[in-house]
Amino acid sequence: MISYCNNDTICAISTPPGCGAIAVIRLSGSEARDIALKSFIPKANKTLSHSTCVYGSFLDNNGEMVDETVTAYFQAPHSYTGEDLVEISCHGSVYIQKTILEILVSNGARLALPGEFTFRAYRNGKLDLAQSEAVADLISSENKQAHDVAVRHLKGTYSSFIKELRDKLLHLLSLLELELDFSEEDVAFADRTELINLLETIEKEVTALAKSFELGNALKTGIPVAIIGKPNVGKSTLLNALLKEDRAIVSDIPGTTRDVIEDVININGYPFRFIDTAGLHATQDVIESIGIEKTIERINKADIVLHVVDLTQTDIKSLQSEIDEFTGHITDDTKKWIIVGNKEDKIDSVPEWGSITANGLPIDTVIISAKQKLNINQINETLYQYVESKGVTGVPTVTGVRHYEALIRALESIASAKKAFADNVPADLLAIDIRQTAFNLGSIVGDISTEDVLSSIFSKFCIGK
Ligand code: GDP
Repeated sequence: MISYCNNDTICAISTPPGCGAIAVIRLSGSEARDIALKSFIPKANKTLSHSTCVYGSFLDNNGEMVDETVTAYFQAPHSYTGEDLVEISCHGSVYIQKTILEILVSNGARLALPGEFTFRAYRNGKLDLAQSEAVADLISSENKQAHDVAVRHLKGTYSSFIKELRDKLLHLLSLLELELDFSEEDVAFADRTELINLLETIEKEVTALAKSFELGNALKTGIPVAIIGKPNVGKSTLLNALLKEDRAIVSDIPGTTRDVIEDVININGYPFRFIDTAGLHATQDVIESIGIEKTIERINKADIVLHVVDLTQTDIKSLQSEIDEFTGHITDDTKKWIIVGNKEDKIDSVPEWGSITANGLPIDTVIISAKQKLNINQINETLYQYVESKGVTGVPTVTGVRHYEALIRALESIASAKKAFADNVPADLLAIDIRQTAFNLGSIVGDISTEDVLSSIFSKFCIGK
């Protein structure tokens, strides 16, 4: 089996599969330029020198022209991979792409493994592990916020934050290890209060990072919003108004929208994924209880709940007991609860609901008419403000499951270290937990990585990245 850890010259098509106007084929490795020049004949006696693009003909091994291409060359170490790198821009025909690739292979290059170009950039110190993963995030980013986070990671802001935490830990570890060297003399180099303070600070920062994963991950897939409420209050109509299209089936027969509909909209660069629960809350008793169960399931999946009520049928008392009924079933009380009073067009005066609460906390209310599309923007604004207040802008945000898991493991070893402190265990045992925490943090940026870990990370990339 070909492993990532070798020095072959590799090649791959780096543009998406299929036919486009142009396609780009990449070659990386010490032989890249020589292999390219076996088939690429620059026009007007130009040569392939560093950081230039040259126009010319790409010939097959019989000297027949395959295509006219523009070929760029980047000399090691000044390239994406840190190796000699050639990029051949050809016409987008699938046949041309495939033929060029075959010729490059016949002349000594090997087909690249998934993510192998980025792996080489990592191996040659161009990117650390977190930055390499940010390349994949950047390529797949579908909205401004996911893009911003990926760019921040790529710039290394996040990596330096993790490295800083790890350095603090290593400092702590070195003091403890110094004590071990002098164990017979029973000296304590590491001031215990200072140590516990440092551990707690790190715990706080790692917890915040782990927590940011919720939103970081949601930025990739859409922040989940559940639309809940009794039958016929206007949930489907609201969803349509939010999506600006007729996606859910609207009917005045309660419980007629049976399909669960999910769709993503972009509000000021943040993706929100709406989960409609229309139709899940039907009238008969049995179905009713299944409906509530399903609604609770949806609420549990969401970060934000849009709880729709019909203004013509709701007073403050019934509203509070409806909210309590739902919140009584859920364990996580951090969800953002927004009451949407619908059918404003049918009432004379707007109710005063300032005193209602969810889990004892005041909640936002928005009064709308879904049918007449009145005040829908206010819902958008409330959603946007909420996510802004959670603050992903400018702070490190975790987007990868691998990172999240490493942070959780770090938190476990911090908890264990804190317990060791409390139990007054000897420095050598304490050092084990601290070393483990540093290891877990280090594994995010790649300071400590085995070949297996690296292969599993890079194999998730597409070929050509
Ligand atoms: P759902 O069961 O909660 O999904 O409710 P629907 O969206 O299917 O709406 C139920 C009925 O209420 C339909 O006849 C809608 O046209 C009507 N409806 C929804 N929103 C409004 C509104 O803002 N004003 C009025 N007057 N009717 C509405």
